[in-house]
Amino acid sequence: MKQKDIFWHDPSVKAKDRWERNGHKSCLIWFTGLSASGKSTIAHALSKELHRLNANSYVLDGDNVRHGLNRDLGLSPEDRKENIRRIGEVAKLLIDAGLMVLAAFINPYRENRKKIRELLNKGEYIEVYVRCPYSECERRDPKGLYRKAKKGEIKEFTGNTAPYEEPENPEIVLDTDKLSPEECMKVIFDYLIENKYLKSIK
Ligand code: ADP
Repeated sequence: MKQKDIFWHDPSVKAKDRWERNGHKSCLIWFTGLSASGKSTIAHALSKELHRLNANSYVLDGDNVRHGLNRDLGLSPEDRKENIRRIGEVAKLLIDAGLMVLAAFINPYRENRKKIRELLNKGEYIEVYVRCPYSECERRDPKGLYRKAKKGEIKEFTGNTAPYEEPENPEIVLDTDKLSPEECMKVIFDYLIENKYLKSIK
């Protein structure tokens, strides 16, 4: 910490008070997986469905965060680490505000994912491994990144010239080459209800 004389003020309205009024708990659902594995698609579809059910959620999405909060950061390993750290801190605030936070970021390093888990209280972090073979992601290629990587135009490309460290103990695994986005959402909803984040689906 660079500054001294900083004090923590306990909030007058606690997350638990918000849970009661909202009718659901707050948490961070972190979607990790290769580019084009389906993180954004599932996160946005889930947020829409949660909204329809009167549950409060917010999607933190890679490019959007880099437009503002993290516009000063590049793609060096240190900047990637700082990018993830800030997202974790923002998620922590949003959890305190009673939201279900849906984060869609590759976040390829185990160490950085572990830090996010450690930053939050037990049960607040739900890791979702959006699993899809590289070949299938390459076939989908919605942003043309795999084509560019093949031509050597992207220096460090996750899953190819840069590592993707598979999650060891994710709360949920979604095989998006086998399940549809709707089926993936159902798996997450079942988890949220079973573990009492949400009461039930109306
Ligand atoms: P990411 O956020 O992981 O980079 P996107 O969600 O942007 O990936 O893109 C994934 C692509 O794969 C989309 O074109 C989506 O329609 C397609 N897709 C096919 N099956 C699935 C699935 N089961 N879940 C999510 N996306 C899927």
